[in-house]
Amino acid sequence: MGKVYFSSARARKWKYDDSMPGKLDRLLKEINLSKYFEPKEWVAVKTHFGSEGAHRIVRPVFLRKVVNALKSLGAKPFVTDTVRIKGLDYLEVANHNGINHLSVGAPVVLADGLYGNDNIMVKAGDILGEIAVASLIYDVPAMVVCSHVKGHIQAGYGGAIKNVAMGGVSSSHRECGWKCGRGAMHTVGEGKLIWDKNKCEYCYQCMEICPLESIEFKDEAFNYNVEDCWRCGRCTRVCPSGALLLPSDNERFMRALAEGAMAVLSTFKKRKVIYINFLTEIQPECDCMPVADVPVIQDKGIFISDDIVSIEQASVDMLLKSYPLPESASDEKEIVKGEDIFYKLNQKPYWIQIEEAERLGLGSRKYELVEI
Ligand code: SF4
Ligand code: SF4
Repeated sequence: MGKVYFSSARARKWKYDDSMPGKLDRLLKEINLSKYFEPKEWVAVKTHFGSEGAHRIVRPVFLRKVVNALKSLGAKPFVTDTVRIKGLDYLEVANHNGINHLSVGAPVVLADGLYGNDNIMVKAGDILGEIAVASLIYDVPAMVVCSHVKGHIQAGYGGAIKNVAMGGVSSSHRECGWKCGRGAMHTVGEGKLIWDKNKCEYCYQCMEICPLESIEFKDEAFNYNVEDCWRCGRCTRVCPSGALLLPSDNERFMRALAEGAMAVLSTFKKRKVIYINFLTEIQPECDCMPVADVPVIQDKGIFISDDIVSIEQASVDMLLKSYPLPESASDEKEIVKGEDIFYKLNQKPYWIQIEEAERLGLGSRKYELVEI
């Protein structure tokens, strides 16, 4: 059984201690970082840098709190993510979103290099076989995983498992390309995009969002570079009419996510990774999308644990008890209190990722919740 510490987002006193940064300070003390990290040890603070328009990420103030807590032990933290769009552009995005050395108090670096192909193949499970883990994450001895909890069009729910799996793995590998990277989780088989001319509205959003500028329309026909394509699925997610499809399978995808997380975590010794889930600005979609819609659930608070499965289960359990927010996507879909908001939003069996992570031995769905 995992132990999960939680602090609520509600502030009842006008005191720093009752603020979210103040509560994160207390959570970091409560978990006792010195049990996990050592003086002089390099520690990755893994987060998601967001996108130019998706500003609802783990805020820099929280990253700075984590960095400061690690520095107070004498550890050497750095803040990191893997390449999601071209590396140089992604570092600019991080900077625009307020994540830079000055704001967070530590170097901000890409875990798989500026080209996103600096990675090492690591054994995963039956579905993935092997997967390309970012070399920096492979090499670093310790990690704090800071995850912004939100919905997700493909995963249904995005928290620590998704952050570790998708975020610890590269888009592409020098030799085996997308097949060894994130695309192997996103898709099945050859994973070729399917375009339906009859449904296409020629809005060109797919073209605009492709991180590789891989898509073009010639004579009103969809074309893309099949070899280069990362199979990230962004083009299919923004397509308003369902004209673009990337063959996928919900259950396989959820299991592949858990396998990806297992591969990434297998590069760490026991008790060298802790997880912080931020249930704040809980938007319906991934932080890599071009916008962050208004939250569908009110801010709930912050969880911290050394058990990835427990923290995910505790986060989901709290979301299941939450009200859908008025004037949000959950309101638009007429979701009512008591219904599974994330399932209703995206119709994905997101719980499979947590069940599978437990089956693979990453942790326990049973947890003890300690509220501070
Ligand atoms: S899946 Fe779509 S958006 Fe992603 S790289 Fe391929 S063509 Fe571009
Ligand atoms: S996003 Fe969809 S509808 Fe728009 S151009 Fe691309 S395929 Fe067509």
